[in-house]
Amino acid sequence: MSALDTTQIERLRRQLDAREAELQREVREGDADDDAPSKSPRNQVEDAGEQSEQQRREEVRYAERERDIDELRHIEAARARMAHGHYGVCIDCGRDIPVARLDVQPSSARCAPCQEIAERKGSHAPNRYDPGA
Ligand SMILES: [Zn+2]
Repeated sequence: MSALDTTQIERLRRQLDAREAELQREVREGDADDDAPSKSPRNQVEDAGEQSEQQRREEVRYAERERDIDELRHIEAARARMAHGHYGVCIDCGRDIPVARLDVQPSSARCAPCQEIAERKGSHAPNRYDPGA
């Protein structure tokens, strides 16, 4: 069971809500950008340098969006843990996650040492590893 009291859980839940709303807005705005017609349609293959610059920007945006969506999944998983009374307990070692860590990242599923191990493992098989499962 988590060592967090109701006041702390409520505070962290509000942080999750706020972060989720922010991420959802970012993801939605990304969608709107994709659908928007180019501001200057005449300017097509004029400048290869500019084009690759634009492509690079899009790749960065895509990566950011992936990260946002990933974080949304973590937030959802954190809410599920709250609902089951497991929130604030490391999913790997079962120890309490320090409140200071949850304050920084309310969607944390692991204590810092376990997170480090998980990230090392994850780097070898990034797509097969799902911490939310
Ligand atoms: Zn742990």
